[in-house]
Amino acid sequence: MERLIIIGGGIVGLATALKAARQQVAREIIVLEKDAQTGGHQSSHNSGVLHCGLYYKPGSLKARLAVEGIREMIAFCREHGIPHDICGKIVLAVDEPEVARLRDLEARGTANGVNGLKWLEGTAAIQEIEPHAVGRAALRVPEEGIVDYSAVMRKMVELIRAAGHQVRTSAPALRVRTDGGRQIVSTPQEEISADFIVNCAGLHCDRVARSAGFTPDSRIIPFRGDYWKLAPSGAHLVRHLIYPVPDPTLPFLGVHFTRMIGGGIEAGPNAVLAFKREGYKRTDFSLKDSWETFTFPGLYQFLKKYPGTTWDELRNSFSKKVFLKNLKRLIPEIRMEHISRDGGSGVRAQAIHRDGSLLMDFALEQKPGQIHLLNAPSPGATASLAIGNYLIEQIRAATAA
Ligand SMILES: Cc1cc2nc3c(=O)[nH]c(=O)nc-3n(C[C@H](O)[C@H](O)[C@H](O)COP(=O)(O)OP(=O)(O)OC[C@H]3O[C@@H](n4cnc5c(N)ncnc54)[C@H](O)[C@@H]3O)c2cc1C
Repeated sequence: MERLIIIGGGIVGLATALKAARQQVAREIIVLEKDAQTGGHQSSHNSGVLHCGLYYKPGSLKARLAVEGIREMIAFCREHGIPHDICGKIVLAVDEPEVARLRDLEARGTANGVNGLKWLEGTAAIQEIEPHAVGRAALRVPEEGIVDYSAVMRKMVELIRAAGHQVRTSAPALRVRTDGGRQIVSTPQEEISADFIVNCAGLHCDRVARSAGFTPDSRIIPFRGDYWKLAPSGAHLVRHLIYPVPDPTLPFLGVHFTRMIGGGIEAGPNAVLAFKREGYKRTDFSLKDSWETFTFPGLYQFLKKYPGTTWDELRNSFSKKVFLKNLKRLIPEIRMEHISRDGGSGVRAQAIHRDGSLLMDFALEQKPGQIHLLNAPSPGATASLAIGNYLIEQIRAATAA
């Protein structure tokens, strides 16, 4: 094809453009990013963890693309000298119901093809890996690690441009219309005609889809996650990555400890219903975003199903005491003076269906000449190169038909 446009310069849009360039999908590839810089939202406001497919339902896209994606991402980092560390993580069960759920995770991970899983029984075995963690059992996941996703994106931009393609910043896609089989994307500067567009707009993907005449059954509902930093006095408490056993009905992994690739240890993120899609502060509010959230019928079904995930989390997000209580479940020694609020935050683009269910898997919708990626939350950064491959398979299938 002559021209492919990718809307959104986060890690998924960039990975897709890079894969498209390498596979010569189009003579010209243009990434349109609305901000002055690429990658300024989810892709740089996350835990920086490489997830290998432990949590996801066998057979799901997340399961397949996380397992393929982590291996591709590590190979990419090795090839380009990008800082990463395959330090492994433990998932810690602190009571009997969690032990049962951890066994389910072990079975899922094995079914998904995760390598080297090891069951640790009791605190003594756990403390050989994490000397300050306490629990009934833990699962060690040696394939996982940490990475500098901002450095990954900088390299992707460099490679896309070096291959003769474009990454345009300050270029929001305002509208997409179809004219005689071509896709016409309007930006404030111009109208660009393309054979095919891929919408990877993250927190705004549903809006971009609507601007292209699509009516998705889901809407992006933003969930902010706050991170806390461990003070130097508490840094000895965590060696690698320590995760709780997550609630299997939610796509969020629970507040965890993460060693960061640039140094230091963070704890977080919680999952708080946010009033602004790109609102990184607790008090951020956007009338437009809140209107879209609160006029969506699916939200009220969701609130009925998960009242604790919404109102309690919102209230608790202002309380250091509650946050500390969650952390103490994993490391009882941790104290108030070990944590400070300056760990930053991120906002997840989580799609909710009209019936109130959270979309657990990656999700996309297509119409001729267009693919809209409508749900790409965690482990979207880890899986980005594999998602790129998958999107290209879909483009090829659509254009061959
Ligand atoms: C708190 C948090 C923790 C996470 N932790 C992890 C983790 O440890 N590991 C992991 O693998 N994943 C993690 N994730 C998930 C991961 O960050 C996302 O899956 C991934 O970054 C999604 O990338 P994206 O490119 O789809 O979205 P984004 O990074 O949000 O990029 C979308 C881009 O589209 C642009 N855009 C929007 N609208 C338009 C428009 N109209 N025109 C042009 N451009 C537009 C935006 O400005 C943005 O740059 C986490 C996410 C969050 C929020």
